[in-house]
Formats: sequence, structure tokens, C-alpha cells
Amino acid sequence: MDDTCRIVATERTATCTLKTPEKVFQHAMEFAAGHPIAGVGLAVPGVLDSRLYELREVVNLDGWLGVPLRDQLAEASGLPSMVVNDANAAAYAEHASRLLGVQSLALITLGTGVGCGMVVVGNPHGGDHGCAGELGHIAVDFSDDALPCTCGSRGHLETYAGAGGVIARMVQLSGEDPDGLTPRRIADRAEAGDAICQKVISDTACYVGRAIGMLGQVADPAVVLLGGAMTFGGLETETGRRFLADVQKSVKETTLVQVGGNMKIEFATLGNQAGMIGAAMVARDQSSLSAFKK
Ligand SMILES: [Zn+2]
Repeated sequence: MDDTCRIVATERTATCTLKTPEKVFQHAMEFAAGHPIAGVGLAVPGVLDSRLYELREVVNLDGWLGVPLRDQLAEASGLPSMVVNDANAAAYAEHASRLLGVQSLALITLGTGVGCGMVVVGNPHGGDHGCAGELGHIAVDFSDDALPCTCGSRGHLETYAGAGGVIARMVQLSGEDPDGLTPRRIADRAEAGDAICQKVISDTACYVGRAIGMLGQVADPAVVLLGGAMTFGGLETETGRRFLADVQKSVKETTLVQVGGNMKIEFATLGNQAGMIGAAMVARDQSSLSAFKK
């Protein structure tokens, strides 16, 4: 990324082929050779210890747990380096693109799972244990027949608003075979007037809105953005616009007027590149902070 936050060059390589973080960093620096670089930012999935910059919990990255990532990256690059959770990096980029200054923002990513990154008073916020904003595991159904979540608890948002949850409710309401059902197809059928698909999407919005309402009552962000593959067409379609309106309605129904009334809820705009732009921005903006220096 250059000074104007424009991406200069990208490369995609599977981390599993390189095996260790050390080799991934070496590979990245070889790729970057020739470009004048002032600092390096790394966005990682999972639970990141925000003091030691080590991963405490992560899926599909063997050999990355407990490794001092920032130190290794600084050693490999010889440059100021920063490590940030990928959801928080994406939120940081969206926050900067909206010129929000010291205001707070949450970016909720709706896909197979439900992720959430947060920027609180202008800084990426991971919390004391790297778990801040774990919105996918907030309970939105407290009834006796609340569905079990992959984490072992019950009634969590991810079970209702993740792709699997949306398809499961579609099967439950329509009796259809789940084979061939995808959130995209459900959105297309809703757009064509299918009442059951419309109800499934409207129910999803209600669950997402309940979780945002709780987030609003606790953290009171100025802006909450919805991104990811499962935004049902976004602003481009009537279904996507109705989904957003239903989320906004659900938030207002479950929050104080000052919270739900003031919070802006919109679709995210930077897409898949938000994580990498945000990681570079964090490296740029935090390189002068004392926490950055050993
Ligand atoms: Zn859960």
C-alpha cells in the first residue's frame, strides 16, 4: 500500500505450502524486494494476544500458535512491523475510509461464520484476551429449543445468521432438500418473490439486529457495517435493501432511542481487500507508538 492507501502489488500464496510463519515472512519479503518499504503489517485470523502478538487460538494454521509473530516479522523484514487480527484490520480500513477520526465502528462479516472487527475511539480493539467483538457467539435465542452452536453453547448468532443456519431454517420452513440450497440462491428466489425465502432473510435480519443491539448498548459505536458474502445482494437488490432495513428495525426495537437512533448501520464498501489495506494502515499509524518499540 502506498501513502494514498492504494494497493501497489499483491500476491496470493497458500500458507500451508510454506509451513512456518518464518518461511511465510521470508517469502513475503522476497516478493516485496524492489519496493521501497517503510513498515510491515500482518493481518491474522483467530484469537490474537494483543500484548505479545501471539496467536492463542486459530483454525487451519498449524504451527502458528504461541509464535511471537511481530518479533519474527520485524526480524525477517528489518522494518517496523505490526500484527493485527484480520477482522479488526478490515474494520480499521473501513473506519479510515469514512474519516471517522476518534469515533467507533464495528464491521460485521456475514459468511460461513459471523465475524466482527472493532475500532474503538480510533484504534483497533482486540480486548484483553483478543476476543472483543466475538459477535458470532452472542446468544440471540434463549428459548428451550435454541439450536446448538459449533462452540458447544446454544442459541448463538452464528447458528442462525451464518450460511449453514440460513440454509437450515430454509429447509425447516420449506421442507426442501438442502442439497443445492445456498444463501445466494435463497436471495435470488426472494428477489423473484418467493415468500418463504423472504421470510428466512427477514428472520436472519432480526437475529443480526438483536446482536447489533446488544453491541450498541455495550460499546455504542457510531457506525456498524455489514459485509461478507451473505448480505443478500447488498444495495444492488431490493432483497439486500430490505435486509438492511429489517436489521435497522430490529436494532431500534431492542435498544434505547439514543443508541439505536444514532447508530448508522450500512453495508461495508471495501470488500475482500479491507483486511490487507487495514494491516498496512495499522503498521503505518502505530509505528510511532511506544507499544510498537521493544
Ligand atoms: Zn457459539
